[in-house]
Parts: sequence; C-alpha cells; structure tokens
Amino acid sequence: MEAGDMMLDRKPALLTRHGKQAALAPALADIGWRLSLVDSFDTDSLGTFTGETPRAGSQRDAALAKAKLACELSGLRHGIGSEGSFGGDPWLGSCAWATELLVYWDAAREYAVETWISGPETHYRHWMLHDLDSLPELLRQADFPAHGLIVGRPGEPAFHKSLPDERALRMHLEAHLAAGPLRLETDMRAHRNPTRMAMIARCAEKLAARLASLCPDCGMPGFGEIAPLAGAPCLDCGAPTRQPGVRRWQCPCCLAMRQETLSAPVSPQYCDICNP
Ligand SMILES: [Zn+2]
Ligand SMILES: [Zn+2]
Repeated sequence: MEAGDMMLDRKPALLTRHGKQAALAPALADIGWRLSLVDSFDTDSLGTFTGETPRAGSQRDAALAKAKLACELSGLRHGIGSEGSFGGDPWLGSCAWATELLVYWDAAREYAVETWISGPETHYRHWMLHDLDSLPELLRQADFPAHGLIVGRPGEPAFHKSLPDERALRMHLEAHLAAGPLRLETDMRAHRNPTRMAMIARCAEKLAARLASLCPDCGMPGFGEIAPLAGAPCLDCGAPTRQPGVRRWQCPCCLAMRQETLSAPVSPQYCDICNP
C-alpha cells in the first residue's frame, strides 16, 4: 500500500460531551484528518475529576479505553481518547501542574500512538470560602464565569457543578454558607476550562505531527522518536557514559526501528571511570 493512500480519508472518532473537538479538530485538519464526534456516550461514567465516579486504572488506561470505545460506538477504524490529570508539580508539589494525554487507536491494525504534554500552564485551584466578603477576590482568581467553578464535594448538599454566572453562584453560596465554610474548586472539564482546552490543543498539535510521520517500512502513521540508548563516549577516556549515545525512532505498528549513533564526546563528569 502506498504511503499516500494511508493518509486519505482518515476519520477518527472522538468521544466527548465536553467540546474537546474544538481543541483537536484544527491540528488534525492540518494533516487532512476529519474528526467524527460520538456524543451518545457519557464519558463521566468512566471517571470524573470531582470523584463522583473514580477513574479506574492509569491515565494511559483511561485514554486508551476511550479511544477503543470511540471505535466500537462509531464503527470507525480509528479512535482518539483524551485524559488529563492535575495536581502538584513533580518536584515540590507546591505549584499546580497538568498532564494531558491523547491516544490514537487503529482498531484494524491494533496499535496505539500516544502523545503527552505537561506543565504549569493550568487553571487548577481550590479555595475555602468562609463568607461572601472574600468572594470578589476569589472570582477574580478563578476567572469565573469564563472558567467554571464547582462548589462543595460530591454527596454534600452544597455540591453544584454547573452554576452559569455570578448571580446564580452568589444565591447558591448564600443558601449554603450558613451551614459552614464551603470548598470551591476550578472545573477541570474541558468545556468549562479554556486554559485546559488550550493545553489539549497543544497536545493535539503534537499528536498530529506524530501521525503525519509515516513508517518508512509499513507506511502506517505514528513513526516517532523513542527513548535513546545510553553510551555517548567520555571526552577524556572514550569509555561509554550514561549520557544518550544512540537516538532511536520506532513504528508503533510494525516496530521497525531506525537509529543514529551520537559520536560527539561528553564531559567526563558523566563517566563512571573518570568520575566514579
Ligand atoms: Zn572517562
Ligand atoms: Zn511500520
């Protein structure tokens, strides 16, 4: 099969009720792929950020399951799944940090292509509200209503995920503050969090670039760089170090590999012989 033919009429299915097509469609259109939406399925049943339904398995499991489900429900060969995770940064945990994952699934060849993006460019926060005096500052920090706010925890009487504007929010808070301070948090669902939507769009650009890269052997989309092998030579003694010595690219479908040896020597600080 010609590599060019593989790119024709790609129509991956995407499960979403949260408007994620806005983040994915432009990057995919750039490589000639058209998204097909599946909105008949409630992805919240697979897990919610607020914890009414805990997510089963890892972030990768969840995104891959959504991509496969998109294929099953649409009857299409290709599916895309999206899954985000949010928390503290990986070093001190003191700054908000987001990780977005997109997984493409080819149900005919049964292989996946995944791209990750992570960073502090996220709108992920929570507050304890004691009285309405501090509400204006909270609303400023929360960028509400451009970004959504969730009040309370699942199961609490005050729990509410879809307050549309300040008037509705204020009335809801007034009714529940009498019972004690309230927890408010940013809504991480994509359609209520434009900052998250922008990060998914950047992840989509990365996925599109990867899908536009065809395997030199089998012609399937997704040929890309994988982890390098260690062994760059030491500048002083020439022994292999733990620094990258071989860059590698692999096809996720047929596993064909290409590699390039890096011959430039590296500082003896990385050498176990010169610097044990
Ligand atoms: Zn050395
Ligand atoms: Zn291949």
